[in-house]
This record gives sequence, structure tokens and C-alpha cells, in this order.
Amino acid sequence: MPGTIVMKFGGTSVASAERLRGAAERMVAHKEAGERVVAVLSARGSTTDDLVAMAHEVSPLPDPREMDMLLSTGERISCALCAMILKDLGHEAISLTGSQAGIVTDTSHTKARIVDVRADRIQQGLDQGAIVLVAGFQGVSTAHDVTTLGRGGSDTTAVAVAAALNAEVCEIYTDVAGVFSADPRLVPDARKLPVVSFEEMLEMAASGAKVLQLRSVEYARNHGVRIHCRSSFEDGPGTVVLGEGETMEQPLITAVTHSTDEARVTLLGVPDEPGVAGRIFSTLADANVNVDMIIQNEPVSDGEQADMSFTVPRSDVATATATLESMLASLGIGSVATDEAMGKVSIVGAGMKSHPGVAAKVFQTLGEEGINIEMIATSPIKISCVIRGDHVPQAVRALHAAFELGANTIRAEQPFGASA
Ligand code: ADP
Ligand code: ASP
Ligand code: MG
Repeated sequence: MPGTIVMKFGGTSVASAERLRGAAERMVAHKEAGERVVAVLSARGSTTDDLVAMAHEVSPLPDPREMDMLLSTGERISCALCAMILKDLGHEAISLTGSQAGIVTDTSHTKARIVDVRADRIQQGLDQGAIVLVAGFQGVSTAHDVTTLGRGGSDTTAVAVAAALNAEVCEIYTDVAGVFSADPRLVPDARKLPVVSFEEMLEMAASGAKVLQLRSVEYARNHGVRIHCRSSFEDGPGTVVLGEGETMEQPLITAVTHSTDEARVTLLGVPDEPGVAGRIFSTLADANVNVDMIIQNEPVSDGEQADMSFTVPRSDVATATATLESMLASLGIGSVATDEAMGKVSIVGAGMKSHPGVAAKVFQTLGEEGINIEMIATSPIKISCVIRGDHVPQAVRALHAAFELGANTIRAEQPFGASA
């Protein structure tokens, strides 16, 4: 049986009629080479942002179920238009919503998880010789409602479809040439990484490298899907995410990542007694708020009140605040304050495990730039610092230079380095 390929095109890659045609032509090239082709498309350009803004025009805290009905329309537009182009090019094509494509999710609206892919309809289309277009970022819940998978979720649709079809590769076509040592829009000297391990890609995605959605990387690792992230606009290899056991060198530091989407929530007057943190964070978890870093300032003497701060994605801050404020009395907390202008900068590298001194160099570099670190979190292969949002670009560039990650630096150090 011919091989199956899943090709995912991001928002910029389908933004105009001309780009949509370019994507269609890439699909056709694979089809004509004898492959079975499934394409997962994102909403065009800024469509999803525009839909979110539209919702906020009519409601301060839009109902999550209705938000999903709204947001899921963007991806359907891309798929229908692309199917029209493919048919005009003389190819069989069929567009499917997430629900029609058999993407079954849990019921957590606006950030649903895929629980099953019932790919019969996709298989049927492929068996009939069609190019199958699947609307990314969406599914149908176990309660039969339309759901969406969180921002950047088309990546996860593509990986899940690739897993269900046992595809040879899941190609993620985007507006940069692959995964870089830092966001190339912020650091012109960033180096394209020919390969990156799942371990590092997970940390990078979790700390803001939005080129692949975190869940798509988790899903690919769990289901053994090969991801190749590459440019929609130029040919040539991008970045392949390597599975465990596939050999690669382990540089000390692989990348600097960042996010300017953080908000800090501070709870004042938190009772210093057992069980309080459990109650606060299970309340937030029930409200579907993703909490990232947490800091608690212990009172000087026992029994007094403490302060607690944590970060959440800015899109969750309104829900977090509303939820906590409605429970101040039952949780016994004094008050809630928020700061929405926070950012985060992180360095990721598998080699860090066995090298002391990396954290010291991060803090020193930021210190020399006059950047105050507000919160710190580490994993064996990552160090993250919460800083003010407007300091993020400067911090990313300084760390990228301090750890010598630039394309030029690497070439100068390794004149015979084949992989650079
Ligand atoms: P798409 O619409 O194709 O899904 P995204 O905007 O979600 O594209 O992701 C691609 C963007 O991710 C790039 O335009 C780039 O600015 C950003 N990005 C952030 N960090 C990185 C990184 N380390 N490598 C590559 N791109 C990155
Ligand atoms: N359109 C959605 C978003 O902008 C999903 C995606 O592009 O992956 O987040
Ligand atoms: Mg994306």
C-alpha cells in the first residue's frame, strides 16, 4: 500500500488565495508521487484572533461552549477553500470538520484533549483517491459538542491524525524554516536546528516556542509519530524531532525560549495552615486554569498570614481572578491582585543535566542587562525566569549571545561541523 503523509499548514501559510494555492500545490506534488495525502489546515492569517476579539466585544467572559462554536469556524473556511482549489486543479478532494474527521475529545471547552481518533471517514476519502482536508484545532466532545484544542491546536490535530493513520511522517509547514535556537523574529542570528530531541522540544514548547504546540509534541512522543517542521515558502529540510534512542549529540544549551503571554496573580493574606494551597489550586484546576510557576512567601512566625504568587497564561487571568474572588471567604484569603505585563525567558538544553554553573550564568547575564528576575523555576534541562514583559526581547538576545547559540558563532567554532 502506498505511504500516507499528513501535511499541516499554519495560519500564515494559508492567509491569502495565493498561499492557499501554494499549499494545494505541495499536496498535489505528494499525491502525484503516489502518496495518500491528508492535509490539516489552520484558520487563515489572524482569523482566530479576530474571532476571539469578536467574542470579547459582546461578552467580558465568553461562554466556553459558544466560544468553541465560534472559533472552530476559522479552520473550516480554510479547508473548504482549499478543496475548491484542488478540484480546480483536477484532483479529488474532500474537506472535513474535526467532528466529521472523527477527532473525539474530552469536554473541556477551549482547551480540549483528544481522547480518540475514529479515522474511518478519512480512510474512506483516501481509499477513493481523494486528498483529505481536515479542519485543525477542533473536535467533537464525548458529550457531542464542538470543542477546540487550545491555541496552536492544529499541530495536535495533525499529529493525532498521523498517529491514527500510521503515517510515515507528519509535516508541519509554517512561516519559519524549522525549530530555531531562539525565535528568529527576535534573534536574527538564531540557528536552525536540524534535529531536536523530544525531551528538549517538550521543554521548548512548554516554555513558549510556539512553533509546535506542546500537546502535539507529547502526542507524537507517546504514539511514535515522526514530526518534520519546515517552511511553507521554501524547500529544503527543516527540523526533525528525534525519538528516544535515535542518536544525536547533546549540546549544553540548545535554545532560548520566551513568552510574553504571562500574568501574575498574587494572593494576599493566605492563612499559614496545612491544606490551603491544595484548596486554592484545586479550585483553579476545576476552573480549567493552567497554573505555571508558584511562589509562597512564608511568614516570619508561625500562624501568621503568607502571600502567594503564581503565573497563568494571560488568557486565563480573568477566569482565575473571578474564580478566586468568588471564593475569598471560603478559602480565607484577604485579596487578589494581578499583573498582566509579565513575560518569561528560559534556556533549554539536555547537556545542562551534567554541567553545573548554567543557572549562575543565566542570572549573571540578566543582572548585567539590569533585568530583575521575579520568579525562577527549573527542571533538569530547563531554567525559566519570570521577568517584566517589556524586558523579554533584550533578555532573549543577551542569553542567546552569552551561551553562543548564534549561527555565526557555531560556524566559527566548528569549521568542519556537518550539522551546523
Ligand atoms: P503556524 O501559524 O504555522 O502554526 P505559529 O505562529 O504557531 O505558526 O508558530 C511559528 C512561529 O513560532 C514563528 O513564526 C516564530 O516566530 C515562532 N517561534 C518562537 N520560537 C521559535 C523557535 N525557537 N523556532 C522557530 N520558531 C519560533
Ligand atoms: N487557529 C488556531 C490558533 O490560531 C489553531 C492553530 O492555528 O493551530 O490558535
Ligand atoms: Mg501554530
